[in-house]
Amino acid sequence: MTRPPFDPPTAEDVRIVSRQLGRPARDVVGIAARCACGAPTVVSTRPRLADGTPFPTFYYLTHPAATAAVSTLEAEGEMPGFAAMLAAAPDGLPPASNPIAAAYRAAHESYIADRESILVVDEVAGISAGGMPDRVKCLHALVGHALAAGPGVNPIGDAALARAAWSPAVCQCVDYDDVADAEDNTTTATL
Ligand SMILES: [Zn+2]
Repeated sequence: MTRPPFDPPTAEDVRIVSRQLGRPARDVVGIAARCACGAPTVVSTRPRLADGTPFPTFYYLTHPAATAAVSTLEAEGEMPGFAAMLAAAPDGLPPASNPIAAAYRAAHESYIADRESILVVDEVAGISAGGMPDRVKCLHALVGHALAAGPGVNPIGDAALARAAWSPAVCQCVDYDDVADAEDNTTTATL
């Protein structure tokens, strides 16, 4: 887990992320999380791309096995359960007293603070990712944040990671060069 300031990404990091994404990785500011083997799992992207586009998604899950496991959670209908963690008021307390919801709002602020430590982009002010601060829209974004920030920052990302059939502690990497060779003859994937 790594938050800003990052070490500059190596050429090998950028090469592997590009293979993972199936397109050239651009505007990489750092590698925010890594597999047990050292391969990138979460890439951090500049808040404004070189072409000028504002880019609010500071942490992006790139590892193919991780993204597949999180996609499975979404496809299996787990989203309402995660959303309910924010709405439920434990012990009869009002929803505003839900500590998970409060932690999720703090995660939203932490996400934006990390990004703005690199660059403040007015067009995306107050915008984080994944549905934060009060909805659950994209588990990939939330798990990416959880992996970058470490346990205890993003409660929904932590919960999704705990449920996923992938762990940063167990390498499930493929040979990324083989993946790229296969994709060279097909349509390039895009985000
Ligand atoms: Zn690995």
